[in-house]
Amino acid sequence: MFNSDREKKREISLKRARELKKTIEDYRKAVGSIPTGFKRWPQIQKNQERIKAYFGAGDEEWSNWHWHLRNRITSTEVLKDLLPLTEQELEEIELTGSRYRWAVSPYYLSLIDPEDPDDPIKKQALPSILEYRDPCGELDPMAEEYTSPAPAVTRRYPDRLIINVTNLCAMYCRHCQRRRNIGETDHITPREQIEAALKYISDNEEIRDVLLTGGDGFMLSNKRIAWLLKELQRIPHVEIVRFGTRTPVTLPYRIDDELCEILTRHLPVYVNTQFNHPLEVTPAAREACLKLARAGVALGNQAVLLKGINNDPFVMRKLNQELLKIMVRPYYIFHAKKVQGTSHFRTRVEEGIEIMENLRGFTSGLAVPTFILNAPGGYGKTPVLPEYVIGMGKDYLTIRTWEKRVMNYENKEGEAD
Ligand SMILES: *Cc1c(COP(=O)(O)O)cnc(C)c1O
Repeated sequence: MFNSDREKKREISLKRARELKKTIEDYRKAVGSIPTGFKRWPQIQKNQERIKAYFGAGDEEWSNWHWHLRNRITSTEVLKDLLPLTEQELEEIELTGSRYRWAVSPYYLSLIDPEDPDDPIKKQALPSILEYRDPCGELDPMAEEYTSPAPAVTRRYPDRLIINVTNLCAMYCRHCQRRRNIGETDHITPREQIEAALKYISDNEEIRDVLLTGGDGFMLSNKRIAWLLKELQRIPHVEIVRFGTRTPVTLPYRIDDELCEILTRHLPVYVNTQFNHPLEVTPAAREACLKLARAGVALGNQAVLLKGINNDPFVMRKLNQELLKIMVRPYYIFHAKKVQGTSHFRTRVEEGIEIMENLRGFTSGLAVPTFILNAPGGYGKTPVLPEYVIGMGKDYLTIRTWEKRVMNYENKEGEAD
């Protein structure tokens, strides 16, 4: 009797397990053909050898972030020797480059598959004529220029704000939503402005969370970062500091031992980065992220939903799973705003909702970020979710699960005897 009851339960569980297995059969079939930085690494290393030979650089230079910044590729003269591009492509890069600045670190360039015209790395790194031809879009859709109560500060929320510490980046993303900040020249925010921002924070006790970004927060020297963290630590109401940086993706060698030691001395520190495609998750990126994690830094990812790059539920699922393997917790997926020169990357919002639909339940909750729209006028990040509550009764609601099973859920307060 007992045995057959147990067998019955096992039988039911096995049937359910087979059903569950079926729900990811399509993903498991597709995932083999999604390229990742680990799978492509042998080819990437060959690219790196070619780039090093071109610059006459050795391994020591290659792993030095200053070398990469000094040798960022910013002209078609250099580019044409490193990647096979047609005359037309080169002309288009020239033309678009005359309107919007571009620069790529040798490392990020090495991730490009020279044979693939639709390479997701190339699309993020090299100017496209579509930027030049983009008829619409604004330069400041988030009205950041109207949310700056002090020099270098952007404040859109009650208890936290951004200090824009530089406009410098290792690579100028073609989809950059802060394009207007990038301008024509690199500039580290002058010390007086940073001091004014610090004074503003000091004077406003409700600010407990300070984000250092730009540009790229890790483009500052270690010395400048150490100074900033020390100054922030002296403000008693500042509880946490965050960095916004894409260096783990575009220049992983930036994460050097000295930086890690500085960050460790000033915990709690959070780093939010931006991986947009599994190809960016390479052994070098892993090394950088693990170094930060060992230093005690919590890592988050803020992906941008980009047409032709990651607007695919399986690519996004793979990306978020790859990130967990390197200790990066998916945090946000942003819908791309209407920014001049980036319209060709914009998807409809439904695509983001579809991606979320294909994450929740199908994979680890840790791999499920929040899909965010930025409200016009700088009124803040607004989450958008698939609808799981499909009806509200008096004492129950009707829900549908990740598998789209519809059921009622009792909704009553507990009653004491
Ligand atoms: C995105 C952003 C933040 C941080 O938002 P969280 O949701 O807390 O990550 C803070 N200030 C500004 C101006 C921002 O754009």
